[in-house]
Amino acid sequence: MQTYADFHRQSIEDRDAFWAEQAKRIEWETPPQQICDYSNPPFARWFVGGRTNLCHNAVDRHARDRGDATALIAVSTETNTEKSYSFSELQREVERMAASLQSLGVQQGDRVLIYMPMIAEACFAMLACTRIGAIHSVVFGGFASGSLSTRIDDAQPKVIVSADGGSRGGKPVPYKPLLDEAINLASHKPDAVLLVDRGLTAMQLVEGRDHIWSDLRTKHMDAQVPCVWVDSTTPSYTLYTSGTTGKPKGVQRDTGGYCVALATSIPYIYGGKPGETFFSTSDIGWVVGHSYIIYGPLIGGMATIMYEGLPTQGFDHQPDGGIWWRLVAKYKVSVMFSAPTAIRVLKKQDPEHLKKHDLSSLKALFLAGEPLDEPTAKWISEGLNGKPIIDNYWQTETGWPILSVANGVDNVAATSPRFGSPGVPMYGYNVRLVDESTGLPVETADAKGVLTVEGPLPPGCLQTVWGDDHRFVNTYWNKMEDPAGGPARWVYSTYDWSRRDADGYYFILGRTDDVINVAGHRLGTREIEESVSSHPNVAEVAVVGVADNVKGQVALAFVTVKNSEGLDTEEQRAALEKEIMRQVDADLGAVARPARVHIVTALPKTRSGKLLRRALQAVAEGRDPGDLTTIDDPSSLLNIKSMVS
Ligand code: AMP
Repeated sequence: MQTYADFHRQSIEDRDAFWAEQAKRIEWETPPQQICDYSNPPFARWFVGGRTNLCHNAVDRHARDRGDATALIAVSTETNTEKSYSFSELQREVERMAASLQSLGVQQGDRVLIYMPMIAEACFAMLACTRIGAIHSVVFGGFASGSLSTRIDDAQPKVIVSADGGSRGGKPVPYKPLLDEAINLASHKPDAVLLVDRGLTAMQLVEGRDHIWSDLRTKHMDAQVPCVWVDSTTPSYTLYTSGTTGKPKGVQRDTGGYCVALATSIPYIYGGKPGETFFSTSDIGWVVGHSYIIYGPLIGGMATIMYEGLPTQGFDHQPDGGIWWRLVAKYKVSVMFSAPTAIRVLKKQDPEHLKKHDLSSLKALFLAGEPLDEPTAKWISEGLNGKPIIDNYWQTETGWPILSVANGVDNVAATSPRFGSPGVPMYGYNVRLVDESTGLPVETADAKGVLTVEGPLPPGCLQTVWGDDHRFVNTYWNKMEDPAGGPARWVYSTYDWSRRDADGYYFILGRTDDVINVAGHRLGTREIEESVSSHPNVAEVAVVGVADNVKGQVALAFVTVKNSEGLDTEEQRAALEKEIMRQVDADLGAVARPARVHIVTALPKTRSGKLLRRALQAVAEGRDPGDLTTIDDPSSLLNIKSMVS
């Protein structure tokens, strides 16, 4: 039995041999000629010369070998539907979708934007794209026209796949009007829009541009569309994530590296096996949805559950705080993946819900996306009768966990979980804690540093920022010259503070930048500020993230107004607050809406005019704002303090 530490060391010190072995987990049309080309750091090219296809590895390969095994289980408590697809059935649906996209002009290398609720057709669309070598760009269905239009302009899709609407708590949520508005706002116009008509909300079709999926599906019922073998380094998708500027970044993923990374993570991290069921409660709009609703489980030969609905509402729109556990029991889920926020929501429900269902199939519950607080971890661990609760830490950029618990397979020993820590570095990640100002390694146990990864990043991580190599290098990488004259080292920053204890377990201590994490969703405060300041009466705005019992963090906005006439009463201020919230809803979506908009007379700034965000955040959380010697007008902060307390 090999220790996990040895396994990890081998992945770093004997990188190519390690990943050459892992590459055998997937099928290649042409095997790779070179494992990692790192001749142009920090760009890493994985499995160079190899040709493969993501859809082949997720679908066709299993349809060929175990066609009747269940692949996709689409459950909607919103529309009261449950439908399972075997790998063979999934392949047929994907071929129909692929043929439909081709009939709308999509070719290899074209982008297809997917703006959809959690329905099976979204899965078909993603797989259809990778099948034909088109690059998908899924935009979270909760985003509104403004967010969607910036992504349309950046990705320049040939076709957009969408639906009439989604549903939340039994109420239809129209998508089509938001999409039309986004296309209006965008400079780039797609050639065609393919719409799934669920019969939830009426749609106004644009003649010549809009097509209905059921019509095209019928037309292409018997279509056979072979997988297009692409070079391993060919982009498979882009996924937008927030940063410190208002402009979202398109994280660009390759094909072969991503496929190998996911195929490896299923046994080593998640402990999943072919024939078992994976249930991730995330959404296809986020990275977890890409890696662990769609590609990872399917590549690993597992069935995957796509769930549309609330965690607290069951079939027939009846309250059911145990709906997830009902599904675990019914579909014999072995691996479950969720976010701490969701568990905090469930915590408000009767714990008996956990006891009512047979959870014997469940091996572990994985939680990621935000810090896992100990009370939540303990509550769910007790509720699940001591089943392992595994915190894992990663980012949209990396595509799979940086820190987690090794599951213990193939003669590699497991590591044990530790409350409060997402664990130890996963194989392939050469994690370093560095001092923010000097860039030197932090070696002392429990000392705080920035969590970084020395290049090359392992397979599956972002290749670059879509269309902007310069931004990729400038945003994420620091070049460290070797004082001894050796080659410079390139270091990737996660922008997270961390500490490592004496046993090598890492603890995440928050972001180093202005990104906030609301209910496990990453939002840039600048994006929200841009939206708030587009309200005609807003002069200045500062958005900060503050701690929240359920969502982890929520956004608070502090604004000064251009014209304070008519803002004398509480009601008048509340009306302005509502207007500003509506503005954010319309631009970005309710997911980004600040919990409160406080109208203040001045924002705390330094004498040179720099906004004191950290002080503002501290005061909003009831903490000591720290050193305020540079503040221009101390009363601004005092006013805010009285307002939020
Ligand atoms: P996203 O790219 O939206 O998945 O957000 C990634 C960010 O979420 C990370 O950089 C962290 O700030 C935070 N995050 C993700 N997982 C964890 C975790 N297990 N513990 C603490 N923070 C986390």
